[in-house]
Amino acid sequence: MSGAGEAPSPALYGLVGHPVAHSWSPFIHGMFAKATGQHLVYRLFDVTAEDFERETRRLIASGARGLNVTLPHKQAAALLVQEMTARAARAGAVNTLVLRADSTLLGDNTDGVGLLDDLERNLGLELGDRRILILGAGGAVRGVIAPLLERKPGQLVIANRTPQRATDLAAEFADLGPIGACSIERIAGPPYDLIINGTSAGLHGEMPEMPPGLVGAETVCYDMAYGRGHTPFTLWAKSLHCHRIKKGWGMLVEQAAAAFALWRGIRPDTAPVLRALAKHR
Ligand code: NDP
Repeated sequence: MSGAGEAPSPALYGLVGHPVAHSWSPFIHGMFAKATGQHLVYRLFDVTAEDFERETRRLIASGARGLNVTLPHKQAAALLVQEMTARAARAGAVNTLVLRADSTLLGDNTDGVGLLDDLERNLGLELGDRRILILGAGGAVRGVIAPLLERKPGQLVIANRTPQRATDLAAEFADLGPIGACSIERIAGPPYDLIINGTSAGLHGEMPEMPPGLVGAETVCYDMAYGRGHTPFTLWAKSLHCHRIKKGWGMLVEQAAAAFALWRGIRPDTAPVLRALAKHR
């Protein structure tokens, strides 16, 4: 609250997750705010699973107008809100919380639109009839399955370290298109058109042991994870001479832009932010 004559305090937004120290979201939202003339601050909140509900409620009660939610809390966030957008309800995972005028919380999921904007608009990929493999079955993958199936791929396979989670996810989305599931060891060729890494293995410097025959000369390999230089997944893709390798910077910026638009009612231009980030990677 500001006193008479003082400039109004900036609106508070932020990211809740564990870990969050590596996050570029404050940089991205800071650039969006400057470019669109919005008076806001964006902070990082490192919160464990045990404290997620209490801390998130406390942040909202103490003035936060909206929050992004990252691993491992996206499914927990879906249980916290009074209402979800159709895409968040379908994903069963929330990555954006919006405090509404009536003090209720709306949950949305912008991961799917973020990935699709990057694949289609930024990279120019056509997904119809393509064979797509996704590694992982966590919160991020939940958010991208429905939008990928909407593009009518020839086949979508979810492979996960814990195969039951992949099987459960495939069953949940089977009404939307051709989706299958397996363990990582059992992924079978021929080479896929697109392989998306949606595991968090790379955060620990790891890469699951992959069967041979999945990558061909036309395969595009996309790592949702981002960071400087190569990741274990992009190194694997490079060693197999795939057609193209991309990390998740574009997805990160596009999902952030969608969250920003929900919060502030104005869609920022993502191109300058992508250019600025390119200098850091
Ligand atoms: P979750 O914690 O919800 O899920 C993690 C997934 O990774 C699970 O499927 C888990 O398998 C798997 N996994 C973890 N460690 C290993 C390992 N050593 N070997 C094989 N599989 C492993 O995380 P999220 O889904 O929220 O995030 C996943 C990744 O996507 C992260 O790297 C995150 O940074 C990135 N991401 C990027 C975004 C972007 O905008 N670019 C947006 C959202 C996420 P199991 O089920 O067996 O535990």
